[in-house]
Amino acid sequence: MDHVQQNCYDLETIAKERGIRYFLISFVDLSGAQRAKLVPASAIAGMQKNGAGFAGFAATFDMSPADPDLVAVPDASSMIQLPWKPEVAWLPSDLKMHGQYVTQGPRNTLKRLVKRAADHGLTVKTGVECEFFLVSPDGSQVSDEYDSSAKPCYDASALMRRYDVIAELCDAMQQLGWEPYQNDHEDANGQFEMNWKYADALVTADRHVFFKFMARAIAEKHGLRATFMPKPFMHLTGSGCHAHISLWDGAKNVCQDDADALEMSAAGYNFVGGLINSADALCAILNPTVNSYKRINAPRTVSGATWSPNTVTYAGDNRTHMIRVPGGGRFEMRLPDGAANPYLLQASILAAGLEGIESKRDPGKPLDINMYTHGHTVTAAKRLPLNLLDALRALDGSAVLRSMLDDGFIDPYIKIKTAEWNSYCGHLTQWERETTLDC
Ligand code: ADP
Ligand code: MG
Ligand code: MG
Ligand code: MG
Ligand code: MG
Repeated sequence: MDHVQQNCYDLETIAKERGIRYFLISFVDLSGAQRAKLVPASAIAGMQKNGAGFAGFAATFDMSPADPDLVAVPDASSMIQLPWKPEVAWLPSDLKMHGQYVTQGPRNTLKRLVKRAADHGLTVKTGVECEFFLVSPDGSQVSDEYDSSAKPCYDASALMRRYDVIAELCDAMQQLGWEPYQNDHEDANGQFEMNWKYADALVTADRHVFFKFMARAIAEKHGLRATFMPKPFMHLTGSGCHAHISLWDGAKNVCQDDADALEMSAAGYNFVGGLINSADALCAILNPTVNSYKRINAPRTVSGATWSPNTVTYAGDNRTHMIRVPGGGRFEMRLPDGAANPYLLQASILAAGLEGIESKRDPGKPLDINMYTHGHTVTAAKRLPLNLLDALRALDGSAVLRSMLDDGFIDPYIKIKTAEWNSYCGHLTQWERETTLDC
């Protein structure tokens, strides 16, 4: 049982009933990192009421050391008992300062967008595919020395050599009621993907945060390291985090129209039109690190394809475009990578897509060609930003995302991420030595 009704139980009682000794009051900052305090059950009643205090400046937010406490108010209805250590329960929380929800808070931002969808009478259902690598503890190489084939996708033996980690993770998801349905070896050596069923956007985002935390913890238990880094090895396929989305009015999927060639309704096309319109700005959030740009726009990998997009295009059931519409009234946004902040990933997609519905944006015709081999024939196709700075500038200039996501979120985000870019630029690389020493 992972879910409890916030008002039916108080956490102190739940702790006694379930043998919980500690609560991990957790939040995700603008960098996507998870921060937490471990609170003994004896002190949880006060924390549930008043929240846990943090210094916002010490995490990644645009805050000052002189600011008052950043207060993390736990969401008891989303509590998850750690399957690998049930005496600890994880609590995602909402960030407040001076009693007000903080605009910079990623979970608050997603809640604002979910509310905006609700204002249109829509419930948002999403699923994410969190690809990851199992690497050596120092992160320098794939953990399985025998996992070296050029086309390792779905490799049964390489998958089974990591059975202990994968099965423990899958059992945990099963126990938590997430309805996992498949696990595979992905397209890069050492890379895996585990899929569980889609749910309401906020539920999926909380699970996404928890999945990354759990995968790291369980990999460590087995002497390995799980990484969601977008491109840990230049010659191998990177780790994406595809997002699948559908919009519902009660039990009706309003993105579905069986009469359409892609089984997508006008609202669905408008949502896709919104994603296409804001794609370059979205990259700043969906591809949030310097390393992210080595996954998109990448040269061919040893497996023969990168499986990541290079252009702002969409298609039917075709995996070489930014958006794939596989039918059944959902669409797959293939842009996000493993570094994307789980809350901002969904908030930004919703922001761009809902604006597409509000403005009735036309995505144009689907392009059912192999973009990797024939992309050059489509000269009109917009290219994705080549680096983080270009994406940040696009976000800075995006009136759509500014109005949908709030300047109070966009400006701090750009400030923090530009500082990250500047820090990267202050780093001298081996490539520069090799190409410039004899200039
Ligand atoms: P693929 O690798 O073919 O892109 P996966 O099976 O790995 O697809 O992942 C598909 C994800 O999409 C899962 O999380 C699944 O639950 C989710 N999904 C399926 N149908 C819908 C839908 N109608 N709305 C949102 N997400 C969906
Ligand atoms: Mg202190
Ligand atoms: Mg998949
Ligand atoms: Mg995959
Ligand atoms: Mg996919």
